[in-house]
Amino acid sequence: MQKPQLLTRRRVLLAGAAAVGAAGTAGVLAAGLGEEPVRPTTPAAGPRARHAFDPSAYRLQPLTGYGPPGTEPRRLLVRREPLLRVPGRGRTMVLTFDDGPDPRYTPDILDTLAKYDVRAMFFVCGEKAADHGDLLARMADEGHVVGNHTWSHPLLTRLRRRQIRSEMERTCDIIEETYGERPLWFRAPYGAWNRAAFQLGAELGMEPLAWTVDTLDWTTPGIRTIVDRVHDGAAPGVVVLSHDAGGDRSQSVRALRVYLPHLLDSGYHITAPRWHFV
Ligand SMILES: [Zn+2]
Repeated sequence: MQKPQLLTRRRVLLAGAAAVGAAGTAGVLAAGLGEEPVRPTTPAAGPRARHAFDPSAYRLQPLTGYGPPGTEPRRLLVRREPLLRVPGRGRTMVLTFDDGPDPRYTPDILDTLAKYDVRAMFFVCGEKAADHGDLLARMADEGHVVGNHTWSHPLLTRLRRRQIRSEMERTCDIIEETYGERPLWFRAPYGAWNRAAFQLGAELGMEPLAWTVDTLDWTTPGIRTIVDRVHDGAAPGVVVLSHDAGGDRSQSVRALRVYLPHLLDSGYHITAPRWHFV
């Protein structure tokens, strides 16, 4: 059942890329923000997408392997530190959920995001993606962006280079198999980065993305505290870290139902970067 869906999604992406090429730079920017769910009937650029980011502030790189025909994948620079926020001056924020997918919590989070027509990022672990490919297929169908959070969530700074490579590569492969595209973003477990992780990430076509606001939801501090941390940290370009797996995440699930509508009412535009920015 999954394969035909994935093929359909790829075809839609290719069709979208071709349409974007014809539409010019503004269309590329709008489509690159992952603003619109990928549906055959949906145009590449929606009206809300146009003011999401300042088009002059950065430019986007095409999706590796999925850009317009003839586009060469660009070799990424090896960074020395991860990105902490997204560019642009608009009231744009990114919600990220780590360590999943987990069938106990991820579907609830996806339901809430769907209710408000919002796209988010999921930094998944390969071993969980392998067990719950249906959830990655759902993320693809609903327009979310999936990033690489290693296979088994180890502390990378304690591993040898070849072990780090294996953790990252296997996860890229299972994401491609279940989600339909290789990931463009990587996040080190525990935020513990090292030189090998940056080098291998760049080699595998992934930019390192950390976060601006940590909800510390994994400490189960209470729904109100999680909500307050998101509200207190809300600002243009902020990337929020929460978790949809790795323990009891029922507070994370319920907090999202509270802070998401508040952020939208406050004029924030929640998006997920579908392409790299430089
Ligand atoms: Zn993690």
